[in-house]
Amino acid sequence: MYNFLEQSTRILNLAGTAGKIDLDVMKLLEGPSRVVSFRIPLKMDDGSFRVFDAHRVRYNDALGPSRDGTRITPEIDLDEVKSLALIMSIKHAAGKIPAGGGKGGIAADPRELSPREFEALCRAYMRNLRPKGPGYDVPGADIGTDLQTMSWMLDEYESVTGYHAPAAVNDKPPILGGSLGGYEATGRGVFEVFEVAANEMGLRIPDASVAIQGFGQVGSVAAAMFHEAGCRVVSVSDSSGGVHNSDGIDIAALSEHKKAAGCVSGCPGTSPISNAELLESECDVLIPAAVQGVITSENAGRLRTRLMVEAANGPTTVEADAILAEKGIPVVPDVLANAGSVHLCQMERSQGLYDNYWDIETINRLRQDRLVAGYEAAVATAARYKTQSVRLGAWVNALKRIEEAVKTRGWC
Ligand code: NAD
Repeated sequence: MYNFLEQSTRILNLAGTAGKIDLDVMKLLEGPSRVVSFRIPLKMDDGSFRVFDAHRVRYNDALGPSRDGTRITPEIDLDEVKSLALIMSIKHAAGKIPAGGGKGGIAADPRELSPREFEALCRAYMRNLRPKGPGYDVPGADIGTDLQTMSWMLDEYESVTGYHAPAAVNDKPPILGGSLGGYEATGRGVFEVFEVAANEMGLRIPDASVAIQGFGQVGSVAAAMFHEAGCRVVSVSDSSGGVHNSDGIDIAALSEHKKAAGCVSGCPGTSPISNAELLESECDVLIPAAVQGVITSENAGRLRTRLMVEAANGPTTVEADAILAEKGIPVVPDVLANAGSVHLCQMERSQGLYDNYWDIETINRLRQDRLVAGYEAAVATAARYKTQSVRLGAWVNALKRIEEAVKTRGWC
């Protein structure tokens, strides 16, 4: 049975050992610094009453205020939020971003809520969180949250505190002090690190065949980038199932179909493919861009890709990682591949704090430079410490920075 927290903790310990991280620092990182769990009461449109479980975890803030991610899904629990907060701490540190890792979650299905109920839930989450602002903990978006939800949350924060503070919430739209390029940041970044990894391994980018699991914010933007670069996106899936065309799927047509039908299945010019088949299909690049725990010891041995770039958080188990290493399939790990959004959030914060907003060319250039620098640093560390994977190289880099900050602060 897949256990996200156990998996993330195992990677943490493997990296701690590989990087010879101080044992007291590792002891500190055994669990999050702070956890807040609360219950949100909500009056529903039909007069009934429901209560929603909610959490916010700040894993480690030695490098700066904790930041990012609010996931709203029916099945989320505290352990999932803790795993994601740990991954955020590592992602920030591996990218040299002066922030700790934060994550929030509400156990709810947004599709079952009316627009009024959903807005009330998001506002109540922010109110009950009693956030202390940009220097402490800054919520952002994740699955189930978007520009609109973050706008409600910012407005609620500002209503409660009585002053404007655009840097108190990330992933908001530019009209409220958000950054340009926010929606595309992660998907674009996935393509940009793929380009570097593909060049390193001599994979020809035009004509490369690509399979993408997940066609949401990240998967759809990445798919468009691959398509534009001349790659053949041969398979795409979402939670309803998948579609395949060995000559390449027309991504603009697929987006239109999804808008109209609500899912990718049934797109004209494609044949059906299941999520399991997509992951094991022959391709040059596999992009898991949906949920955690999809590449496991059960299916890793059957993967037929030349390269995997993790757009989702935590898609590959530790056992699967070892199998892929043995098969010689390189993996660009989540903490590097999907870090476009954390670099963007860092820029969003700087812009919000100074009320000075940048053009999209500057933002895209800085995001790409920082993303690629993080990837190259992890590749170098993986070689230096002879780790099994670039993932461990990235985690070692992150842990070294956290270790230095913890020790410099005199925490241990
Ligand atoms: P999203 O909700 O917009 O899209 C998720 C997609 O995955 C949808 O197409 C959904 O149908 C599909 N999906 C869900 N469960 C599935 C399943 N069991 N099998 C196959 N497909 C499934 O979410 P998103 O923002 O695109 O995020 C996707 C992943 O990327 C998540 O792991 C998220 O944590 C990670 N991520 C997102 C961002 C961001 O900026 N949005 C940043 C970093 C990491």
